[in-house]
Amino acid sequence: MNGLLCYCRAGFEPELAGELTERAAMAGFAGYARTERNTGYVLFICDDADALSRGLPWSTLIFARQKLRLFADLQGLDPSDRITPMLAALPKNIRFGELVMEHPDSDASKPLAGLARSLGNALRPALRKAGALTREDNARLQCLHVCLLDGDHALLASSEPEDSAPWPLGIPRLRAHADAPSRSALKLEEALLVLVNERERVSLTHDGARAADLGASPGGWTWVLVRNGLHVQAIDNGPLQGQLLDTGKVEHLRADGFSWQPPQPLDWMVCDMVEQPRRVAERMATWFREGWCRYAVFNLKLPMKKRWQETQLCLELFAQQAQKPLIIRAKQLYHDREEITVFATIKRG
Ligand code: SAM
Repeated sequence: MNGLLCYCRAGFEPELAGELTERAAMAGFAGYARTERNTGYVLFICDDADALSRGLPWSTLIFARQKLRLFADLQGLDPSDRITPMLAALPKNIRFGELVMEHPDSDASKPLAGLARSLGNALRPALRKAGALTREDNARLQCLHVCLLDGDHALLASSEPEDSAPWPLGIPRLRAHADAPSRSALKLEEALLVLVNERERVSLTHDGARAADLGASPGGWTWVLVRNGLHVQAIDNGPLQGQLLDTGKVEHLRADGFSWQPPQPLDWMVCDMVEQPRRVAERMATWFREGWCRYAVFNLKLPMKKRWQETQLCLELFAQQAQKPLIIRAKQLYHDREEITVFATIKRG
């Protein structure tokens, strides 16, 4: 079994399958996607999985929370000894730096958590004894993933540290803050962690950095920006949490986020307005075309149908209408529901 194993939000398997199929074809690889609705994962079977994996970097996949190189599909495992067939299926001459035991993020798979833990405790020493796992965890080496689909069914896969999410299942564990005005704060925190690199993140914290938050009420995203040190113009007809205004770093403007424009160029703009994704994409493009911001994070709320097509269309529209070269990264984050999050900045040089 050769291919990719990608995890996604349960229910978004058709979108991920469509994305993998189209992206693989564009990169010149033959293959096919295998999936079932609400399982939280998609397999993409193809002969040259190493080359395909290099051609589809994890950071460029929108609906994949994680991307792994699949090398074994072990079915009918004997509950009294699941380890021997796993050791036999390992690629020769590879010493992994870590073992990750996981199961897809779906309701049906949740009961497998206990088994994954106990099997991991038994498998780890067996892998070390076989010379397939380093004595100490080494995050610079390939990581071995065992994905339990059932008590007698496991997928074996590997990840490259530079080309995969560093969190099990691609889900960063973020703690909800009691004083955040809304749970939406976690969405922006995750976006800044997953989509923005360290160099870009510095721009958040430079002295006197300024931002706009379109669709800011009740203030979760504004709260994240203020915690990062920015001064924020928060645009929304709805109310903002009082404590935010007390910081002296927030100006609340009751205005329409589709027509408001900043009096002077800003460093950052974020937008969480619930609106038609095309309309949002066009407005975001205007901000970059007019030079109103250097960095942006925005959400595109997806329709019920043809969500992969709509995603492509909106991102193309955004890139085209910005009329300047942009770096664009988009992902359906763990805290996103029927939406994706986009980061954009102007390409330099
Ligand atoms: N990001 C916010 C947070 O973290 O608390 C939550 C935003 S909520 C999902 C969407 C907001 O967009 C609503 O408060 C709504 O009033 C606002 N909104 C929708 N259309 C808007 C528009 N045209 N102009 C300004 N705000 C708008």
